[in-house]
Amino acid sequence: MIARDAAVTALKGIGPKSAEELRSLGILTAEDLLRFFPAGYDRPEAVTEIAASPKDVPVAVRAVLETAPANRGFGKQTVTSFRISDGTASIGVAFFHMPYLKNSLHKGEERVFRGVISESRYGLRMEHPKMFRIEEYQALCGSIQPVYPTMGVLSQKKMRAAIAQAVRECEPQAEMLPQALIRDGWMSEEEALRQIHFPESEEALLAARRRLVFEEFLLFLLRIRLMKEAEKRENPCPMPLSGLAERFRKSLPFALTPAQERAWKEIRSDIAGDCRMNRLVQGDVGSGKTVLAVLALLAAVENGFQGALMAPTEVLAEQHFEKITKLFANAGIPVRTVLLTGAVKEASKRVIRQELLDGRADIAIGTHALIQESVSFKKLGIVVTDEQHRFGVRQREMLGIKGEKPHMLVMSATPIPRTLAIILYGDLDISVVDELPIGRQPIRNAVVTPKARGSAYRLILNEIEAGHQAYIICPLVEESEAMDGENVTDYAEKLRSLMPSHVKIAVLHGRMTNTEKNAVMERFQKGEVQLLVSTTVVEVGVDVPNATVMMVENAERFGLAQLHQLRGRVGRGSAQSYAIFVNASGKQKKNDRLEVLNQTNDGFKIAEEDLRLRGPGDVFGIRQSGEMHFALGDIYNDHDMLLAAAEAATQLLKEDPGLRLTEHQRLKEQVQKLLRKAEAL
Ligand code: ADP
Ligand code: MG
Repeated sequence: MIARDAAVTALKGIGPKSAEELRSLGILTAEDLLRFFPAGYDRPEAVTEIAASPKDVPVAVRAVLETAPANRGFGKQTVTSFRISDGTASIGVAFFHMPYLKNSLHKGEERVFRGVISESRYGLRMEHPKMFRIEEYQALCGSIQPVYPTMGVLSQKKMRAAIAQAVRECEPQAEMLPQALIRDGWMSEEEALRQIHFPESEEALLAARRRLVFEEFLLFLLRIRLMKEAEKRENPCPMPLSGLAERFRKSLPFALTPAQERAWKEIRSDIAGDCRMNRLVQGDVGSGKTVLAVLALLAAVENGFQGALMAPTEVLAEQHFEKITKLFANAGIPVRTVLLTGAVKEASKRVIRQELLDGRADIAIGTHALIQESVSFKKLGIVVTDEQHRFGVRQREMLGIKGEKPHMLVMSATPIPRTLAIILYGDLDISVVDELPIGRQPIRNAVVTPKARGSAYRLILNEIEAGHQAYIICPLVEESEAMDGENVTDYAEKLRSLMPSHVKIAVLHGRMTNTEKNAVMERFQKGEVQLLVSTTVVEVGVDVPNATVMMVENAERFGLAQLHQLRGRVGRGSAQSYAIFVNASGKQKKNDRLEVLNQTNDGFKIAEEDLRLRGPGDVFGIRQSGEMHFALGDIYNDHDMLLAAAEAATQLLKEDPGLRLTEHQRLKEQVQKLLRKAEAL
C-alpha cells in the first residue's frame, strides 16, 4: 500500500528523473497522480477488412506483410515501406525516420495496423500506423484508454503505468464529500477515481465524471468563498473623494448614463469604505466601462496612491493610453501616466520602472507584463483589469496576493449569464452596467449568404463615402490547405481591385509584429485607413467610434460570444451602424446561432441562448479564452452540476462556516491545498 501523500518516487519505475518530469506537470504525490485526469479517451476500433475500411478516418486492420520492409533515402529522410494484405485487399504502409523497423519486422508476420488509410500518389496507404501483436490488440479492443495532458513531458505509456499503479496500490481513504451531499446512485470517490482513469464502460465513465465534476466545482467554490472571507480586511487604501476624479467627470463631453452612475457610486463607496474593494463591473460592449476605470484610477491618485490599468493585448493597452492621456490633457488633469508593454524598449522600461518605484508616475497602463515583470510601485492603491475574460482566475488571485493588496476592479464584457456570474465570481462584488449611452442607435443586423457580398460592399462604400469606416473579418491569415475559409491576405487584394482607389484598405492579423499591428491600428484610428480587413485580433475592446460597418466572413465558424464581441466594435458613435454576418456553410437550413444575433443586440440574452444552444463540440467561446478552466468540468455543459455545487457550498458554509467539523476535514484539506497552490504562484 502506498500512502496518498507519499512522493511519486514511492511508485515502482518512478525515479528522480520521472519525478522531475511529473513535477513539471504539478504532480508531486500519489494523490496528485490519482487526480491528474485524462484530457480525453482513446477507443481502439474493432478490426475491419481492408476492402471494407472507410478512408481518411482511423481504422484497425489485421494483415500480413506481403513484402519485407525496405528503406529508401538516408538519415532523417529515410522512408521505410512495405505492403500488407488481409486477403480482401492490399495496401502500402510507410514510416519516416524509423530505419531500424527493417530489423524488427519481417515478411509474413501478422500484425494489427491502426491508422488512417488514404489515397496518396503511391496508391492507397497508411502512414505511421500503430502496430500491435494480435493478442495485444484483442485485449485493447473495446476498451476505453485514457489520454493524459502530458504536454509531451513524458509518454502516455509511462503516465498510464504510473497512474494504474497509483489506482491499484494507494491506500483507501474516507470519502471527501460529507455523507449528506452524496446523492442516491452516486459513485464512491474510490470508484470514481478508478473509473475516470480506466473506465469499464461508457456508463461508468459518465457516472465517474459527474461525481468528480461536482467535486471539482465544489472545491473551486469553497475556495473562492473562503478566500472572500479571508479578504474581508480593513481598507488598506482609504480613498475619500476630494476633487480630481470629480473634476474629470465634469470635464467629459457627455453625462454618465444612470447605469454608469450607479456603478461609480458602488466603486466610490467601496474605496472610501471599511474594506478592500474587490469588484467586478459587468457591462455589455460599448456600455462605457473605460470611464469607470479612469475615475477609479483618479480616485487613487487624488489620495496619494498610484493606479494600474491592465489590458489583455498591447493594441488595447496602447489605445487606452492614447485616449486617456488625451482626456487628461484636455481636462487639464495633472497626472503622470506611463505605458508599459512588451513592445516598450528596454531602456525606456527601465526609466518607467524607476518612476513607478519612486512615485513620480501616477498611473501605469499595460498588458499583464505589468504584474509579471519585476515592476514595483511606491504606493499602489488600485488595480483595474480590463476585459477580464482574457485573464484567468489565477491572474486574478495573483494580483490580490502580490504585495500590498491594492483595491481590485475587474471589468468584463463577457456576457456570462447572470446566474453563472454570481456563482463563478463569488469572490467579487458585482456591478452591472446594463444600458448603453443615449443617442446610440441599435445596430442593424443581417445574416446573409456569400451571394449578398455585392450589396454588402455597396453599403460599405456608401458608408465610407459618408466619412465612416468599416471592418471586414476573415477567419484565416492566408490561404490554407488545412482549412477552407476566407483569408485576410487574398481578401484585401480582392477588395483593392473592387473598391475605388481612394478607399484606403489595410490588413491586421496576429502574425504581424506588435509594432506593425499598432501602426495599422493607429492609422485606422486616425481615419487614414477606411477599410480594415482583419482576423479576430480586433475582437477585444478596440474603440473607433467612427466605424459603422462590421462584416464577418465565415460567421458560421465563430462562437456567439465572439461574434457579439466583434459586432461591439461598431455602434459606438451616434451614427447608424450595421453588422453583416456572412454564412458560407452552404447549409440551406437557417443557422440558429446566427439567427440569435440577428434577433437581439443584448449580450446577456445572447449568453443565455448560447447556453441553450451550445453543443459539446463548440470550438470557440469562453472555454477557449482561458477563463474558468477546470480539469473536468465545463461551466456550460455541466451547468446543472455547477448549480448543484453552488447550492452545496452555500449549505456547507452555513452549517459549518470555517469547515471545522471532522466530517468536513478532508474537504477542507483539499480546499487548503488549492489555496496553497494559488499562493505558491
Ligand atoms: P466598453 O464598455 O465596451 O469598454 P467604452 O468604455 O470603450 O466601452 O465606451 C464606448 C464609447 O462610448 C467610447 O467612445 C466612450 O467614450 C463612449 N461613452 C462612454 N460613456 C458614455 C456616455 N455616458 N455617453 C456617451 N458616450 C459614452
Ligand atoms: Mg472596454
